[in-house]
Amino acid sequence: MSERPYAILHDDQGQPFGVFISAALWAEVQAEILPVLQRAAGQPDEQPEEAFPEPMKDWDDLLAYWDLPYPLDRAVTCGHCGAQSADWQADEPRLFRLKACNIGGLVSFECQACRARVTKRHFKDGVKVQTAPFAK
Ligand SMILES: [Zn+2]
Repeated sequence: MSERPYAILHDDQGQPFGVFISAALWAEVQAEILPVLQRAAGQPDEQPEEAFPEPMKDWDDLLAYWDLPYPLDRAVTCGHCGAQSADWQADEPRLFRLKACNIGGLVSFECQACRARVTKRHFKDGVKVQTAPFAK
């Protein structure tokens, strides 16, 4: 009996028809592979477990009290994985979720691809953007 944690299975003609993965290896890789399998099977991705409510009231307040000499830009770019949105609220599925916001002009988003935190600080003379990789 082989100790390999996985094996390619072949039919009578020697053609590969499937893959066997040991339970231990599956436990290790299923978080990464399951979404791919579900997509292949035509099932929608499950909501990420940590889906959190967005502080939309704070965003609305920021819009209402906006007094900087330039329009509020809704574009968000993840400096970690490169995900890009022209309008973070318009993507389907959403690329970024609003994580925090205040009327002082600090807005932060969570990249839905890599979970990095993208923070935009709005100052009179421009916007400072920072991306921090996801940390547990
Ligand atoms: Zn990202």
